[in-house]
Amino acid sequence: MSFTQLGLSDALLRAVNDEGYTTPTPIQAQAIPAVLAGGDLLAGAQTGTGKTAGFTLPILHLLSSGAAAPLNNTAQRPIRALVLTPTRELAAQVEESVRTYGKYLQLTSTVIFGGVGINPQIKMLKHGVDILVATPGRLLDHMQQGTVNLKNVEILVLDEADRMLDMGFIKDIKKVLAVLPKKRQNLLFSATFSEEIKALADGLLNAPAMIEVARRNSTVEIIAQKIHPVDRDKKHPLLAHLINTNKWSQVLVFTRTKHGANKLVEQLAKDGITGMAIHGNKSQSARTKALAEFKTGTLQVLVATDIAARGIDIDQLPHVVNYDLPNVPEDYVHRIGRTGRAGATGEAVSLVCVDELDMLKDIQKLIKRTLPSEIVEGFVPDPNAKPQPIQLRTQGHRPSGGGGGRSQPRSASAGARTGGAPARSQGPGRPSGDQGAARPAAPRRSGGRGR
Ligand code: AMP
Repeated sequence: MSFTQLGLSDALLRAVNDEGYTTPTPIQAQAIPAVLAGGDLLAGAQTGTGKTAGFTLPILHLLSSGAAAPLNNTAQRPIRALVLTPTRELAAQVEESVRTYGKYLQLTSTVIFGGVGINPQIKMLKHGVDILVATPGRLLDHMQQGTVNLKNVEILVLDEADRMLDMGFIKDIKKVLAVLPKKRQNLLFSATFSEEIKALADGLLNAPAMIEVARRNSTVEIIAQKIHPVDRDKKHPLLAHLINTNKWSQVLVFTRTKHGANKLVEQLAKDGITGMAIHGNKSQSARTKALAEFKTGTLQVLVATDIAARGIDIDQLPHVVNYDLPNVPEDYVHRIGRTGRAGATGEAVSLVCVDELDMLKDIQKLIKRTLPSEIVEGFVPDPNAKPQPIQLRTQGHRPSGGGGGRSQPRSASAGARTGGAPARSQGPGRPSGDQGAARPAAPRRSGGRGR
């Protein structure tokens, strides 16, 4: 199967070719014709499968072949496609993809999310854009202020819908759905299908095409994974040792908490290793800066908490380190999915102390394999060490006002899991008082990358 068989316009095929893609990924091969046919779509696919191009390319095709307002009259360009994503990072990356794939088209796009000033976004929306990528909270703010008009939306995408529900965005999504035109095309992407997602899909989608690709495990299969058993207080020296002896130049490190991320960055700095942390307490501009420096290779180590890292798209990231194991086993797959993307091989190592053995068990059950274990010389763990409970802090807050700051002990004994919603190290952060300095760029034509 080649891209030329999918029915995309020459302008899109050229952009795809520029990216060096030769073959559509399985989700693209199925989603692109389905979306071009104009119907609704329910797709089971996680990050790393090429799903973004899977919806972006056909949307660009549909919008560019329909009648568009004249380019010199941007104020009259209504929003025709709306993409909702759970996190700011993912929103930014999706919009980047819109610009990348649409670079030979005359369509405009912009991204709006919280944590940055709202006024530049208002200005951009006033200019008029064809494609809007947004996080739900900030979009709702614009709706309440009357600064966005969604009455002409023809295509709606809910990207990573399961994460949006996990993060408490359901009410916001419903408020957005209520103002959209009844007649429109709906695309829902989700890595998992809980009852809640099924209910959302039932209410939203009309006779959808259904696609499911790349079970979680398939991402796992191309990534070399191992664990290093280590004492809890030796994790930092072990990490520094691994970075230095293996000469790792680009390492994404996951910690369970924001505090843990900050502390690790400080400790690594003392070893002469440059790192930055990204998590929900950092301003959007600090997060964007850290990610940009990491991508270009200036920054050696990026330390992230789970939600902050969600959707980070770094081509050919060679090393992922689980400094702490995640308390939600699915997050392990999301974390290591940052490496070995789209066919490239990667390596993921986990530093596991005695407190985390139950978490390891849960992860191994999920991925249906036992991870090879290797004790690093000089870091032999104390065989008599006793497990201690792990404090799982849910430091974030749900947009609906739920659950900030609780801490749930998780003992090392089996069955100590708390039920219900998984505790997360931090939340998405609705638009806060933080009207940070990072200004989103002015509305762009898809083609006008000029950076
Ligand atoms: P996504 O699942 O959308 O986050 O995409 C994962 C990664 O795959 C991104 O880095 C894309 O640039 C890359 N990618 C998307 N489509 C293809 C393709 N057909 N061939 C190779 N790489 C691709």
